[in-house]
Amino acid sequence: MATIAGVTVDTGHWIGGERVGSGEAFTDVSPIDERPLAEIARGGAREAEAAVAAAAKAFPAWSRTTREERARLLHAVADGVDKRLEELARVETHDNGALIRSHRRGVMPRVAHNFRFFADRLLDLGHDDLDTRGHTNHVSWDPAGVCALITPWNAPLMLATWKVAPALAAGDTVVLKPAEWTPLTASLLADIAAEAGLPDGVLNVVQGYGAEVGGPLTAHPDVRRISFTGSVPTARAIAASAAPNLTPLSLELGGKSPLLVFADADLDLAADLAVEQYDNAGQVCLAATRLLVESPVADAFTERFLAKAARLRQGDPRNEATDLGPQIHRRHLERVDGFVRRARENGARALLGGGPNDDLGGLYYRPTLLTGAAPGAEILTEEVFGPVLTLQTFDTEDQAVEMANDTRFGLAATLATGDPGRAARVSARLVAGTVWVNCFFVRDLRAPFGGSRQSGVGREGGDWSFDFYCDLKNTVTAP
Ligand code: NAD
Repeated sequence: MATIAGVTVDTGHWIGGERVGSGEAFTDVSPIDERPLAEIARGGAREAEAAVAAAAKAFPAWSRTTREERARLLHAVADGVDKRLEELARVETHDNGALIRSHRRGVMPRVAHNFRFFADRLLDLGHDDLDTRGHTNHVSWDPAGVCALITPWNAPLMLATWKVAPALAAGDTVVLKPAEWTPLTASLLADIAAEAGLPDGVLNVVQGYGAEVGGPLTAHPDVRRISFTGSVPTARAIAASAAPNLTPLSLELGGKSPLLVFADADLDLAADLAVEQYDNAGQVCLAATRLLVESPVADAFTERFLAKAARLRQGDPRNEATDLGPQIHRRHLERVDGFVRRARENGARALLGGGPNDDLGGLYYRPTLLTGAAPGAEILTEEVFGPVLTLQTFDTEDQAVEMANDTRFGLAATLATGDPGRAARVSARLVAGTVWVNCFFVRDLRAPFGGSRQSGVGREGGDWSFDFYCDLKNTVTAP
């Protein structure tokens, strides 16, 4: 047990409806001040095995519950999230350093919405029967089995429930492995689900390091689906683990998304959209980190951007007035800084920031804008995952599209233009799972979400989540 911001959090695994410890533990540290928060059970092959066994045991009964019963329980979990919203917000802010005001007003309400949305969607899930010369084709959405769900640290509970909710709605049982840097809210979710009446073994949580517990989990032959959000190198390791069993995978990975600013854009709006990319201290997979600006407006855009960015308040994320918190971990901050230092050594100039915030110390990194990087430079091609944007200019629409697509990723793209014809032409040519035109981060859970190229495999959201978490079956009946 640990007490964080006045909230008691169990630091064990949650397997088959019971709290389970491990012989070993690891220390969870807060990015706010790098102080230890809790000693967390360090799982391995044994815990992965036990959790899959518990989920497999719970599956037959859970998969036979009616849609209405599952929807009712998911709504009860959402109610539990709402009831403990403030506690969840406080614990998450201590654990991952993201803003308390975002957790209170955006993230935790979305966590509850994840459950409500998939509960309601489940009740509408269906297909009209097809007629084949008098034969009826009836499509059913059968539960697939045990799902291994592996999630990152940048939006821990939001991303976990984005997977847990549709998997449970589909009638599957779940083993969730949260990131080792942010283990706490997954543990609270287990409490909330149990209080809501979810049967034992339907949701299990194992804690620990990726390769130690995630490896055996993703290699397990009784796991029927693996849904992973995280980095490309880890996705490769998981795909290799899954290959012998041919376990279906859904992969939501990194990005290097562009923000295209055309000369006909509202430059104030474009600058606002660019500053928004520092949200969560830049630790957002969808962030449009490459600013591509049409040459004639580059100076005017940059002036507006710098004026707006200068107003950002960096500091303690527990303070409602803070706009920009810390990086998640010392290792991550050093990685981010390494990208910036190498870029500057190779000729890039910092128009803003360019290093850690020495006034604040700790894990606070200044919002940074780099320009003058050589084409193909690492800073233009690799995901930094920190508050670091680059600025490049273009002269024609063709060049803008070419630069935007010049990446091995394809998660998202944002464009600012006042010309609807251009918006349609350019968005049709961009390689991206999501394109935002004159807006950013507007999400509708009915829409498909995912990435092209190395930003992912498959789509989740709406019925696409059920496509993944179900085994679809067509039953053909003679007249
Ligand atoms: P990561 O790949 O290091 O870790 C993600 C999870 O995988 C963690 O739980 C980790 O313990 C686990 N893991 C690590 N090695 C494993 C292994 N061998 N087997 C099984 N599990 C293993 O990613 P991260 O640093 O936590 O997160 C940042 C990355 O996530 C960025 O690339 C970001 O773009 C991406 N991300 C993508 C989305 C999206 O929706 N596309 C959303 C958020 C974050």
